[in-house]
Parts: sequence; C-alpha cells; structure tokens
Amino acid sequence: MRICIVGAGVSGIAAVKACLDEGLEPMAFERSSDLGGLWRYTDLVDGKACVMRTTMMNTSKEMSAFSDFPPPAEYSNFLHNSRVFEYIQAYAERFNLRSSIRFGTEIVKVRKTSSDPDKWLVAFRPAVGVGNEPGEEQCETFDAVWVCTGHHAIPNLPAYPGADSFPGEVLHSHSCRDPLSEKFLDKTVLVIGAGNSAGDAVVELSHRARVVYWSTRRGTWVSNRVVDHGWPKDLVLARRYQMWLIRLIGLRYFRRQLEKSLQSRLDHDLYGLRPAHSPLQQHTFVNDELPNRLAAGLVKVRPDVARIDNRCVTFVDGSNVDGVDVIVYGTGYRIDFPFLDSEQFSVSGNETRFYKHVFHPSVPSGSLAFIGFVQPLGATIPIAEAQSRWAARVAKGSCQLPPAQDMIEDAQQRRRAVAARFVRSARHTIQVDWIPYMDELAAEIGCRPPLLRLLLTDPALFRAVVFEPCTPYQFRLVGPGAWPGARAAILGQMDRIRLGMRGGLSGGFCSEVEHGSDGFLSNSSLLVTAAVATAAVAASLWLLKRTGAFSNLIDYHI
Ligand SMILES: Cc1cc2nc3c(=O)[nH]c(=O)nc-3n(C[C@H](O)[C@H](O)[C@H](O)COP(=O)(O)OP(=O)(O)OC[C@H]3O[C@@H](n4cnc5c(N)ncnc54)[C@H](O)[C@@H]3O)c2cc1C
Repeated sequence: MRICIVGAGVSGIAAVKACLDEGLEPMAFERSSDLGGLWRYTDLVDGKACVMRTTMMNTSKEMSAFSDFPPPAEYSNFLHNSRVFEYIQAYAERFNLRSSIRFGTEIVKVRKTSSDPDKWLVAFRPAVGVGNEPGEEQCETFDAVWVCTGHHAIPNLPAYPGADSFPGEVLHSHSCRDPLSEKFLDKTVLVIGAGNSAGDAVVELSHRARVVYWSTRRGTWVSNRVVDHGWPKDLVLARRYQMWLIRLIGLRYFRRQLEKSLQSRLDHDLYGLRPAHSPLQQHTFVNDELPNRLAAGLVKVRPDVARIDNRCVTFVDGSNVDGVDVIVYGTGYRIDFPFLDSEQFSVSGNETRFYKHVFHPSVPSGSLAFIGFVQPLGATIPIAEAQSRWAARVAKGSCQLPPAQDMIEDAQQRRRAVAARFVRSARHTIQVDWIPYMDELAAEIGCRPPLLRLLLTDPALFRAVVFEPCTPYQFRLVGPGAWPGARAAILGQMDRIRLGMRGGLSGGFCSEVEHGSDGFLSNSSLLVTAAVATAAVAASLWLLKRTGAFSNLIDYHI
C-alpha cells in the first residue's frame, strides 16, 4: 500500500517511520533540501516555517522524544534548536528514513482519481530555490495521502490603518530569523501579538534593540519553563496521578490559585500584561527571561495598535510611540492546504474539524490524514508520532473508523469543548491536553499502558508510569509497535534528566536500551504497593488543596 506523505518535518518523518513499521510503502515529498521542518534553522526565508537562531525548546527533552528513541543523557533538558535538529537527524539515520524521502520536491496538487475514488493522484514538481532546475510537473497515484505540512508556515497579517505609510522594515515573526542581527542594533522595535512566537521575538530582540514595544490586544499570562529547584515544568507537572487529581477536583476550583501563582512570579497588573480572561482560558506564554527584560525597561508593554502614521504608532488607549524603526508581526499563522481541493478541504479561522484531529470526515475511508495539526499543552513530536501510528493502522485495515456522521459529531464536540474553555481566537482551535489525548490515540492503536497489569506484575514500572513524568516511552510498552527498550527507557528517565542538569556524561542515543528485570510482585508487596498508592493519592489531594500548589498543575495541563 503506497502512502504519500507531504512534508518531512518531525510529523513527516514520524509518518514515514510508522508506515515502515506497519509494512506500508511510504514516499515523503519535502519541498526543502533536508528534513527537520521548522527545527532546521536557516537564514533563508523561503516560505518554510523556521525557528529563530536563538530558539530553545519550551518542552523538555524526555517529554519531546520519539517514543522509541530517547535523547542522549548528556543533552540538557531544554534543547537549543540545533540540538533538536541533531536529534531528528539521528532518528532518521537510525531508522533509515531518508531513503523514503524525495527532497527538493513540492506537492502542488492532490486529487482523488477519477477511476477509483479511494486512490489519490498526486502532482509534484521540483521546488524552486533549493538548487533545482525548473522541472515539469509529474503525477503518481497513491492509496493514501498524509498531510504533514505543519501549521506555522503561512503568516497571518492584520491590516492596521496607515500601515502602508510606515517607511521602516516590516516582518512577520516567521521571517524574523536572527534577532541578534546587527540590523536590530539600537533600533526601536514594535512587536505585535501575544503568542509564544511573538513573545520569544520580544525577549530575543530586546538583547539588540534600544527598546522593544510589545503591543498585545488582550494581554497574556506568562509562565516559566523551569519551576522550583530548577526542574523543568513539564516534567514536574505531566504526571498521570496529577491528571487524575485535577479531574477529581475540577478545574474551576484552581483558577484563583493559579492566577496567584503566576502573579507571584510576575505582577501582570504592574507591567500591563494582565488579560481579562483567566490563565485557564489561553495558551500561556512560556518564558523565564521576560520579567527581567520588563524590569530593565528594555521591553515596554502597550495595548493594541490603533493606527500607524509614518514612524509614529498610536495605540488604542491614545498613547503613541514615535521613531519606530522595525515592526514585527507576531500575529500567528493560518492553517491552509493549497494543494487540496479548496471546496472540500478549505479551513476557515483555523478550525480544522478533523476526526480526533487526524481524519477528514468527508473521506470516511481514512485515506486522507492530517498529522501534527494540534496545539498541545505539551510536546508535539510524540503526538505526531502517535497520530502516524494510528493512521498507519487505519491504512493497513487493522483499525476501523466510525461512520462519517460520528466523525463530524466528534469534531464538533471537540470544537465546542475548546470554545467553552479558551478565549475566542484563531490561536485556540486545535488545543489538546497532552496525557488525555495521547491516551486517546493509544486506545485506537492498542498501546495504552496497562496500568492494572503493571500494578500487579511490575510495581517499579507502575510507580514510574503513574508518579514520574508521563514520557512517550509509555506508549511503547505493549501493543502494536511495542519496543523492547521501553521499560528500561522509563526506569532510566530520571537519571537521564539529572545528567542533563549537569551537562551530562558521555552517552549516545539510547534506542538499543534493553529490557530491565520483570520485577514480579509477591502477594504481600502487591498489597503494600496498592495501599501506599492509595494513601499517596489521598495525601497529595489533601496537601495540594491546602497549599494551593494545584495551581501549578493547572497551569501546565490547561
Ligand atoms: C517558534 C516555535 C517553537 C516551538 N517550540 C516547540 C517546543 O518547544 N516543543 C514542541 O513540542 N513543539 C514546539 N513547536 C511546535 C512545532 O510545530 C512542532 O514541534 C513541530 O516542529 C511541527 O512539525 P511539522 O512536521 O508538523 O511541521 P514543520 O516543521 O513546519 O514541517 C513541515 C514540512 O513540510 C514541508 N512542506 C510544506 N508544504 C509542502 C509541500 N507542498 N510539498 C512538500 N513539502 C512541503 C515544509 O518544507 C516542512 O519541511 C514550536 C513551534 C514554533 C513555531
């Protein structure tokens, strides 16, 4: 069965690997000259999504890993983008994925074939700007098409009155590649937008610019990567038992506590950042450095732009800033699939409406899948990988999809849930919670961690799976695609994390990790484990309620 994969970023290479694992025949088409997508930094602004030269991951290395390929222990817990790219390359080498990718090739049209509605005719041509000679369009037929083109490539640009009169440099955060470039030295820069890309640009540019004005329509809540004692926030918070506690107690209860905790780190009122909505209603901006830059006066917060007159920018509160040299639009991205039939597959307002964020209900066979079109409160790579594993099982016929009407209802229900929880914005349309969504995909694949069985047969692993960070290796313990190294990867994760804190020792990629001992439990130790687990849950619940520490959990999970 031939699968056409559009794009070879992390979603595309996870898709290739999933196909190979299931005995399918993948062919990925990548417009640029190499894999890695936005994690392959390049100065060249060529339409491909790309991080900034200075971008560090917001999610920690163990949480962001491919599920059968732990990153080396010596990697720090938060990786610079060049390290992420190194890791992605190592993954592709380890599983020999490059031979299934055609580089420098752009997909231009994807249509159902007229002879067989379950097959797809894919038109492609040599991509321009990657050393290719202009070439003829060619076509091939595939049994399925998986779209892995990412949702950070097509800039969204609002139109402000008078914007045409601005004589300085205008760019979108998408093309703001090197914020430390000399061209920003001593400049007055205005950054518009409050998402993570905009906020990162604000902080990084403030190292070069004279001053950065940060214009936000609604304000934003700011949280940090690293929590108490220098632990990566996602490691501390993404644990199964905490997810259960949150479900037990409910979200509303924690709103004020959460605000209190974010306020204690940075008084959002004092610095003019406080939004009208609660931190539960938006994707918080994750940055540890912003408070310092604000306190030093290198970043100044302003409300939405009302109009632009030459170099003078007036804000909706009537204040203005004159002498602006550069405007950076950090105003987000549009989801679009220009190679698909626009009548059937167009996306309006970033509302994708896919079944479980993967399958388009108008193709009930599942032969058209979308990988990586989620905004998780957590890491994307493991999600793209799990989506690919599911899509591969569907393509192979090992998993069935429900009738189209059920898929439509699922998509509508998800949309309603997101709309009810988040502030209305094109930024909040494809939101998922990491552990619940991964569990949902795992249930489809058949690889959900068997918690009861682990409790009864492998207490050490049960303890790690429930009480330690919920790392992606959990989804390789059982079922199709089970990886013999998963148990050892889970039991060794805290050591790798601690080594990462100290700059690590010599190591290497760990996909060859072997099984540890099975650790069978005697009857008596089983009872003790069950009792301890129950007592721990009850005690944590009581403690968290009393101390308000729950607010931190919510900050991550919501
Ligand atoms: C600034 C920034 C920081 C981020 N930080 C994190 C983080 O800390 N942790 C995290 O988990 N996620 C993070 N993300 C999310 C990020 O989107 C994912 O980690 C991931 O890189 C998405 O990969 P992708 O393969 O889906 O898309 P992309 O990386 O965008 O790759 C898409 C690929 O498709 C190719 N392509 C597009 N159209 C065509 C076509 N027509 N024909 C052929 N090829 C095509 C492109 O050239 C590209 O290589 C961040 C995103 C941004 C923008």
